[in-house]
Amino acid sequence: MPELPEVETIRRDLDRIATGKVLQRIEVSEPRLLQNCLLADVQATLHDCPLVAMRRRGKFLIFNFGAHSAIVHLRMSGWFSEQPGNHTRMVLKFEGATLYFDDTRRFGTFHLVENKSLDQEPPLRGLGLEPLGDMLTWKAFKPVFDTNREVKRLLLDQNKIVGLGNIYVCEALHQAKIHPQQAANKINSAKLKKLRTAIQLILQTAIDNHGSTLGNAAGDYRTLEGAQGSFQDRFQVYGREGETCFRCPGNIERIVQAQRSTFFCPRCQK
Ligand SMILES: [Zn+2]
Repeated sequence: MPELPEVETIRRDLDRIATGKVLQRIEVSEPRLLQNCLLADVQATLHDCPLVAMRRRGKFLIFNFGAHSAIVHLRMSGWFSEQPGNHTRMVLKFEGATLYFDDTRRFGTFHLVENKSLDQEPPLRGLGLEPLGDMLTWKAFKPVFDTNREVKRLLLDQNKIVGLGNIYVCEALHQAKIHPQQAANKINSAKLKKLRTAIQLILQTAIDNHGSTLGNAAGDYRTLEGAQGSFQDRFQVYGREGETCFRCPGNIERIVQAQRSTFFCPRCQK
């Protein structure tokens, strides 16, 4: 599932291709995609509007059309391309550019929201701190950990900090030397400061590497041009069960938390 670096990579491509162009036509062939609107309303609202800006909040892509925004979540297998795919669910025809939304597993979502209430309505309402930019101050970050929840589960909670999924949480906890099952309120301030730095550094490095692609299966994350990300070549723990830690002589272990695999080094993540 795409996490913040993958979504940000796609946002940058969409921005380059479509920002400033007029949307001439939108077609949707998968009714489940539309969450809070009908296709006729979407067409009446957005046709002939220029794409003013292409933004991102957490793992959501925000197409800002001036008075309204179209908000897309890629979920498991959604991706955008300039070429039609085998599972095209939506076509956005701009003046001089056409974007195809392909979604093999059909979990992707589309919301139409007025910009004046963008943050007060689903799906953006209640979202947590944005990890990059100026939102994740120490003052805002520290209170998030005032709970006895396991730190890994806490970091996956989009109402606390947005954009992190399984891969980048595992990598950040390893970098900060924190055990994934540690109760959040038992982590001292020095380690929390390391964790905050690790989250930002790993996400930024992953963006610089165009995200992570795990395999070659249909639905795996790709850039708009169909290229794979390359941050998977830099994983320290994710997918390395049984292999030696790059930092100490320990062996990477896999456990299951919230039905998801967690990879960590029991020797240097105490
Ligand atoms: Zn280790």
